[in-house]
Amino acid sequence: MVNYQTIIDNIVANSKETTNRGVVASYIPELANISLHKFGIHILDANQKSYSSGEALEGFSIQSISKVLALAFSFGLVGDELWKRVDVEPSGDPFNHLSLLELENGIPRNPFINAGAIVIADILVSHLKNPKEEFLSFVQELTNDSSIRYNEKVALSEKNTGFKNYAAANLLKSYGNLNNDVESVLDMYFHQCSLEMNCKQLTDAFYIFMNHGKCQRGKSYLNINQVKRINALMLTCGFYDEAGEFAFEVGLPGKSGVGGGIVALLPNVYCVATWSPGLNPKGNSKLGMAALEELTTKTGHSIF
Ligand code: GLU
Repeated sequence: MVNYQTIIDNIVANSKETTNRGVVASYIPELANISLHKFGIHILDANQKSYSSGEALEGFSIQSISKVLALAFSFGLVGDELWKRVDVEPSGDPFNHLSLLELENGIPRNPFINAGAIVIADILVSHLKNPKEEFLSFVQELTNDSSIRYNEKVALSEKNTGFKNYAAANLLKSYGNLNNDVESVLDMYFHQCSLEMNCKQLTDAFYIFMNHGKCQRGKSYLNINQVKRINALMLTCGFYDEAGEFAFEVGLPGKSGVGGGIVALLPNVYCVATWSPGLNPKGNSKLGMAALEELTTKTGHSIF
């Protein structure tokens, strides 16, 4: 019988000795101010049993992890129509990269590169009356936690520094793959990235991806085919240009963000979130990745 609690307590205890913790993202001041020494891990298993260690209940900026939640919301709203506007191929491109190759005829390579996530945000803006409020309610409902909020300071900071995202949105617009005006789509996108959640809340939200589309209260948000597709995208595109390395080391579908969070899951078994703000050169949490490698190696619980 695998003892998750002992394993994660050991990981957290050993992490305290680690001096090389990566580098905190500095492109927005709000992220640069976070202590490198934060480290949290939380597991939620299929029986809804929770295991927590370290700073698992402290909120942080989920950044690109929000792209999975926005994709789930828009997929539920529009179904397979979505794939006419965004492709499903890994880009192998670094975080925050913008190249014309990411957009073949205006179609972004996948929904987790920024251009793809901006198309998803456009879908939300088209289909919702109050996109920001409704997306927040969606996340609050998934987690059954109404305390989750956007961080307005982070959203504003992203807006003030988001030149590449403006460029991507304008490029999409020029190809006819953005139906709303650039400002309102990016307002949605910057807000979703600014969501503040802790490791526990992230596992609550991602429970649907390990549980055939149903949340912990049994409500269905996605069908099993939709969940299959989103998990496949997490596996192949969830870690910038390090998706291969993550699959190799950890062996789980997941998604990272430059706030230092990672969420990953093994369908029908467990969902895990880690937070350590120091990033490796590819933009993924250094200790988070190492922790997940240790977890899947010690438990033998990976998709492979
Ligand atoms: N909000 C970030 C940006 O668009 C996304 C950062 C991330 O990849 O986590 O620059």
